[in-house]
Amino acid sequence: MANRNLTAMRKREASSDPDSELVLVRLVDAVEDYGIFLLDSRGYITTWNAGAERINGYKAEEIIGQHFSKFYRKEDLDSDKPGMELRIAAEAGHFQDEGWRIRRDGSRFWASVVITAVRDEQGTLLGFGKILRDRTERRRAEQHYRLLIEGVTDYAIFSLDVEGNITSWNTGAERIKQYAAGEIIGQNFSRFYTPEDRAAGLPQKVLATARASGHYEGEGWRIRKDGSRFWASVVVTAIYDEEGQLTGFSKVTRDNTERKQLLDQIHRHTEELEIQIREREATNADLESFSYSVSHDLRAPLRAIEGFATAMREDYGRLLDDTAKDYLDRISSAAVRMNVLVQDLLDYSRLSRVELPLEPITLRSAIEGVLGQVEDREHLEVEIPAGLKVVANHPTLVQVLYNLICNGLKFHAPDVVPHVVVTAEKRDNQVRVEVADNGIGIEPAHHQRIFQVFERLHGAEAYPGTGIGLAIVKRGIERMDGKVGLQSKLGEGAKFWFELPSA
Ligand code: ADP
Repeated sequence: MANRNLTAMRKREASSDPDSELVLVRLVDAVEDYGIFLLDSRGYITTWNAGAERINGYKAEEIIGQHFSKFYRKEDLDSDKPGMELRIAAEAGHFQDEGWRIRRDGSRFWASVVITAVRDEQGTLLGFGKILRDRTERRRAEQHYRLLIEGVTDYAIFSLDVEGNITSWNTGAERIKQYAAGEIIGQNFSRFYTPEDRAAGLPQKVLATARASGHYEGEGWRIRKDGSRFWASVVVTAIYDEEGQLTGFSKVTRDNTERKQLLDQIHRHTEELEIQIREREATNADLESFSYSVSHDLRAPLRAIEGFATAMREDYGRLLDDTAKDYLDRISSAAVRMNVLVQDLLDYSRLSRVELPLEPITLRSAIEGVLGQVEDREHLEVEIPAGLKVVANHPTLVQVLYNLICNGLKFHAPDVVPHVVVTAEKRDNQVRVEVADNGIGIEPAHHQRIFQVFERLHGAEAYPGTGIGLAIVKRGIERMDGKVGLQSKLGEGAKFWFELPSA
């Protein structure tokens, strides 16, 4: 029994070669992507698989026995390309090629071919194996791609070998760098660099970076053929083959000279502006400190004038006639007015100098602060929702509200009882506060200038004041990141408004 099995196994072993040959033949037959067939030593076709039929269009029975030169174009036949291929394959063992071949229906296809010589153990040439692929699609895509790149004119697109020698050149490269393909291919790309950059080894560094990280991006001056410079934006990409071997680099360069010149100009302007701003800030700071110290120093003599006028009235009043007393009153009230003026100026300049810490403030609490200082409170109506909060500086907000409310109560016709209404509401992330009065109103032509220091529309006899109140309002609101404005016409009352960030 065991012996019989052994014999059967030996038999199977002995016949295993023909079996696997059959498998191989079937496999080759079934392959469709590759044409695989055998030629005898003179080039006559002896086998034909499904792939060859699919690619060349012939059925096995039509083509077996024919010479393989049937697939070549006339010009290839004239130069005996088929014969040459077989000779090389016979000598070197194999031959590899890409080129146009002809199908059964006469159409062309781009073939990738390997021919291998087949020899017996004694080395006698038995024939050739030929493996064929149809690469028409790939070639078309490559050609489209090449044409696409060649046609690009805005970018210089070219390739380098591993040493940096130029291997391809598109229209854009010719336009930007002025060299025709014929005169630059084969030259080293370092010739585009400035002498300084070459001396510093920049071209080598660019390739080393691209080699190390796959990629290099940079900007700099480069040289055209006529010696002129242009500002280049450059991308260099390392190119590897399927085995991961570096085969060269692709380089895309853009001429950004105009942009660079524009940016440089903007840069110069910015620098000039910064210098001017710094100078102005310095002047402003000087002026601020000057006005501060002057205002400060003015107060002592003012106090003296007022004090001596009062002393004169008290100590020598009985010696003075009415005219002299009237003069004394005028001296006193002028001194008082000037004191108010100096105080307002100090407030105004302080608003620019000091830090104004901002915090959430309930509008109603700010109004409470104002009510304590306003005299004609019965003419004032306040409609502010409870809990409405703004981000502001408390003393500044009180000062702003005070100035607007006092103006509203002050600027009315003599026969009109003043009425001022303060309202507030939230609008998106802002709170808008309005102070409306029934007073004399303001011509729109003056709406801008009344916010400037000392701008007044009336004499001090008609309406007392210094002309600084609204300047304080504007600067205070703006320093709290808000906006201020008004709606008014002459004779129709005025409505001043400001907006501050809601808290
Ligand atoms: P002042 O009140 O000290 O005169 P302001 O800077 O507060 O200074 O105001 C500047 C000018 O704007 C005032 O002199 C006045 O002519 C005008 N003005 C301000 N508020 C009102 C108002 N509510 N109605 C009419 N005119 C106003």
